[in-house]
Amino acid sequence: MHRPVRHSSLRIALHSVVYMAAMGMLFPSLAIVYLHNCSNRATHSVPDYVAPTLQWITEPYECRSDGNLDFCVKDGCNLRWKPPGTHHCSTCGTCRIGFDHHCPWVSEAQQPSLSCVDAMSCKLGNCVTTGRLKAFLALLVLTSVTVPLASLPVLPILKRHITAALAASHADAWATNIWWSRPYSWILCGGPPGRWAIGTLLGFRTLRERRIPEASWLSGSLVVQPHARMVILVGIGILFWLFAISMTVVVAVNVTKGQRTMDTVLIRLPRPGRTAASTSRFICIPYSHPPASLAYTSAVRSAPAVPENCPEPHGTQRIYPIPISHRIYDHGWRENWRGLLAQPLFNHGTPYQGVYKWPKMNPEVIRRLLGS
Ligand SMILES: [Zn+2]
Ligand SMILES: [Zn+2]
Repeated sequence: MHRPVRHSSLRIALHSVVYMAAMGMLFPSLAIVYLHNCSNRATHSVPDYVAPTLQWITEPYECRSDGNLDFCVKDGCNLRWKPPGTHHCSTCGTCRIGFDHHCPWVSEAQQPSLSCVDAMSCKLGNCVTTGRLKAFLALLVLTSVTVPLASLPVLPILKRHITAALAASHADAWATNIWWSRPYSWILCGGPPGRWAIGTLLGFRTLRERRIPEASWLSGSLVVQPHARMVILVGIGILFWLFAISMTVVVAVNVTKGQRTMDTVLIRLPRPGRTAASTSRFICIPYSHPPASLAYTSAVRSAPAVPENCPEPHGTQRIYPIPISHRIYDHGWRENWRGLLAQPLFNHGTPYQGVYKWPKMNPEVIRRLLGS
């Protein structure tokens, strides 16, 4: 007779231990990855490379429409060279190599000495760059897993509370008078779902009068007794979860395609004022570029690019406009993911300091350009 009860208790205890262990790992991991994404706003991925001399470039490279390399004159960049994939983030006020997007949700802690007005004017967020994409993806995946797991134990209780609040709201004369019996309740807050949501909140207001006074915030009454605060908290968590899931999908698709969020925005949202130059890349192929080297990356060699018998001077190199939708850095999904996963999770500073490592270009794109 007692055995099933004991087994059931053991199973619950075992589940509790596993759950607590999982949460004990997930929450600190989430906090560490989040803080890493927030850190070094002013410094990360901002190495200052010396621009190579054009005559020394022998492999295809991204250039401006006139064939020259790109330089930044904004904020404090002071004519800094912009290697391929670099974008000046106006929020951070600096150029980022491998700029993906600026995320407003990951911010460094503000100085405690700031006044309220100063704090309001502070620009929030941090850049997500290629070097930090792995940590950003880890943050999204951890959020997508942690939020539903953290909410799981309270969901049955919340369901009971919402049902009780809804019943109390329907039975309350005041709530019926100002909400349920009014035609505007069907349209005022987003249609029928809003009608039920507001009606439920009114029910929590009714139930508040019947609540046993709380000893303290930590007494557990917030969960045990019907409480709108708990429902709102879980609701915010669900919104975060939906956001994290959708961002995970966006980042995963971009990694698979070998492109950045910035490219996706430019492809998907062409603005009327945008010129062809802003929605195209320009690839410069030096005349000295031999077809045999198509198999590897664009690079700068340590020898002069223009051979003695070159028919054209290097200054008149072949320049090809190519739409941003043509993924010049796509090497197939396996290779794209392998490249991302090979990066360190915690990229602390300026990993490319020293010699600039040119991003590998898809040789097929160059082959098509030369064949055209
Ligand atoms: Zn800049
Ligand atoms: Zn930024």
